[in-house]
Amino acid sequence: MRRTGGSPLSRRINERVQEIKPSGIRKFFELVIGRRDVISLGVGEPDFQVPWNIRESMIYSLEKGWSSYTSNWGLKELREGIADYYKKFGVDVSYENVLITTGVSEGLDLALRALINPGDVVLIPEPCYVAYKPLTFLAYGEPVSIPTTPNFDINYDVLNRYSKFDPKILIINYPNNPTGVTYDKKTLEEIADFVFENDLIVISDEIYAELTYRGKHLSIASLNGMEDRTVILNGFSKAYAMTGFRIGYAIASDEIIQAMTKIHQYCMLCAPITSQIGALEALKLREEELDRIRAEYMRRRNFFVKRIGKVLEVRKPDGAFYAFPCIKDTGLSSEEFAERLLIEKGVAVVPGNAFGECGEGYVRCAYALEMERLKVAVERIVDFVESVKSK
Ligand code: PLP
Repeated sequence: MRRTGGSPLSRRINERVQEIKPSGIRKFFELVIGRRDVISLGVGEPDFQVPWNIRESMIYSLEKGWSSYTSNWGLKELREGIADYYKKFGVDVSYENVLITTGVSEGLDLALRALINPGDVVLIPEPCYVAYKPLTFLAYGEPVSIPTTPNFDINYDVLNRYSKFDPKILIINYPNNPTGVTYDKKTLEEIADFVFENDLIVISDEIYAELTYRGKHLSIASLNGMEDRTVILNGFSKAYAMTGFRIGYAIASDEIIQAMTKIHQYCMLCAPITSQIGALEALKLREEELDRIRAEYMRRRNFFVKRIGKVLEVRKPDGAFYAFPCIKDTGLSSEEFAERLLIEKGVAVVPGNAFGECGEGYVRCAYALEMERLKVAVERIVDFVESVKSK
């Protein structure tokens, strides 16, 4: 008997998976792979080497042949180290509330799956990191966007307009990808007021906490009453240039962290042991070393904003390594701008609409690039904008 027929395989794919679109960042990333003439301000990837003490600890662990699973929760010393480290951002928790994840990406997925029942509303201020909406949707939640352009600020009044959706979760990210905006204590207090009034849980993505240039990073979990209502997500990808090691963590109340760990133990078992060992070493990095990394990014930010600011409107980023200039004056859409800049000048940026509809009219430029190349890229952008505006 010939085994043919049946419904097309494409129709067997989960409906929600069929509906989500591929990431707008990856699309541009694929376009520039292998093109040596292109300078990429596209992907949010630090250009620093992983500090040597971190690499050395990982090499040592491999020489020793440490290749086993760890506890589902992660290495106890690492969890203790993270609980201690977070005191720096105003949060005092037990190591038992820390779960080691394979990057913030996994932490986000776990938090959403652990909290969402089908149809629950998740509020997402936009422009935002590309994973928030699709992962909410895949967890059978209903993402509701809160546009924040043109100044990218959120406060009590902005949020309060969304109470009518009967939300369950609010996702915040500061310093923010793609805008570079961070929140001061007053803003965090306003967010907390809204959270209490609406009985919400906050997922707080603090992956750029170490890369804060204005004031000091403060976790929203440190505010009165917020500890139990916050899932903190953080990791080692950005400040320590460990993107490929896939290592992060979540901090949450007993109930939430245990629920997240239930999922994690089945879908991941544990984060890679070599990366956990590297992370343990990363926590030993001296404050002066982090200051040096911050100062270098700040130098690049200052240069970028000053020069680009001559031709495009741009808000000075408070943190992370992204700027989000407005390109509306050029008369081009975000995608046209990014495509023409890539083809005509060999510079890759990401169209702002990849970060939500209200990001239309902007492009994201990652300035995590050594200064010499950054200067060339910026001059090419300036040339491009001037030539488009003069027509
Ligand atoms: N959250 C934000 C805001 C990001 O910008 C990124 C990566 O660009 C991630 C999460 C993913 O981080 P990880 O490498 O830890 O999965």
